[in-house]
Amino acid sequence: MAVVRVDEDLCTGCGVCADMCPDVFEMEDELAKVKVEEVEGDLLESVKEAAESCPVEAIIVEE
Ligand code: SF4
Repeated sequence: MAVVRVDEDLCTGCGVCADMCPDVFEMEDELAKVKVEEVEGDLLESVKEAAESCPVEAIIVEE
């Protein structure tokens, strides 16, 4: 299990995370929001891929 957060000071609102993992990320007021803070299993893998794809490394995954 891991806890997911988005650093709103870093997020540019590019939308990549919400496209890659819409179960966890959504766009709101041009910033990414976390819909589900605690993830595990396949969802966690999807979150990690989104985090690696974030151009400004704004997605924080704490395991
Ligand atoms: S991928 Fe990163 S910069 Fe883009 S919306 Fe998501 S958190 Fe923000």
